[in-house]
Amino acid sequence: MIPIADLQRQYLTIKKEIDTAINKVVSGGKYILGNEVAKFEEEFATYCGTKYCVGVANGQEALQISLLALGIGKGDEVITTPFTAVSTSLAITHTGATPVYVDIDSLTYNIDPEKVERNITNKTKAILPVHIYGQMAKMDKIKRIAKKNKLFIIEDCAQAAGASYNDKKAGVYGNLGAFSFYPSKNLGAYGDAGAVVTNSNSLAQKVRSLRDYGQKGRYNHAFQGLNSKLDEIQAAILRVKLRYLDDWNEKRRVNAQKYRRLLRNVTIPVESELARHIYHLYVIRYKHRNKLRKYLLDSNIQTQIHFPIPVYKQKVYSETKFYHLPITEKYCREILSIPIHPELTEKELKYIAEKVSEGAQI
Ligand SMILES: *Cc1c(COP(=O)(O)O)cnc(C)c1O
Repeated sequence: MIPIADLQRQYLTIKKEIDTAINKVVSGGKYILGNEVAKFEEEFATYCGTKYCVGVANGQEALQISLLALGIGKGDEVITTPFTAVSTSLAITHTGATPVYVDIDSLTYNIDPEKVERNITNKTKAILPVHIYGQMAKMDKIKRIAKKNKLFIIEDCAQAAGASYNDKKAGVYGNLGAFSFYPSKNLGAYGDAGAVVTNSNSLAQKVRSLRDYGQKGRYNHAFQGLNSKLDEIQAAILRVKLRYLDDWNEKRRVNAQKYRRLLRNVTIPVESELARHIYHLYVIRYKHRNKLRKYLLDSNIQTQIHFPIPVYKQKVYSETKFYHLPITEKYCREILSIPIHPELTEKELKYIAEKVSEGAQI
């Protein structure tokens, strides 16, 4: 079976460095908020082009803590996309705020800025775009709308470490940018991990406090915080992997170019003008998606659906306002993620392209 992400194969390419990094932490005796986390925060901030980075426990809490740092909660509305992992919305509703869903742009799958503007009310506090699949949303337009209406921006960068828009990386445009380092993300730890980046010193301090029980100095609890810390072992692993991230993202882009040449009979991803897509996921569309998926499975190719149900249709949100967003709903029925990871061989990629093109005829 060709897996959607081959984490074992990747580990073997960097085994020595990873093993050394893990051993250093284990034998060093400091496991929470030590040197590795501090160094990773420094290195990841530099990588993104922001002043600050704060490591947290996972992507969902990176989002939740970002919202809390801005004072967002009950009675506030946050405009976002339903075409994402459920965690984007869970982060909003856990603060007590209400997600307001708008439909996506039909070419890039990202939140449509025009629809954002039409849904602003006097309760709107923030816009939360998701850079889905590794391609950034139209951040110039979103930034203009936010400025005009005095709204905050929180970027969900969980799928977009190293992606850029107009030469600025994911996480730079928003007041805060939230990352997930879940193992299969394009920068992945070996367990749950996440981070928040920002250029604001006061927001960075607030995030630091919120991840650590809301402490301001030891045993002085100023806010209702979480326990959401990035741990030393994960930080040490991420420091090794960060050095390979550009190379891996470039390989994903090369694989995407090959798919572009080879794939027939399916709709392939479109790169928007100013965006540098890093193809965290390679998502095709096909009318009879489930049949194609079965055909690929029978050909030993693993596929996934990111994501099959619009967030507002999830049972957890069944009590909320009724939504019908046609592009989101159509695409949820048609999308299919095929392997694009950097460790894919030329032979495997050609085989996948052949089987997809074949399967999409029947
Ligand atoms: C993975 C993901 C998250 C959540 O990250 P976790 O680390 O799993 O909590 C949030 N948003 C998007 C778009 C994601 O892909």
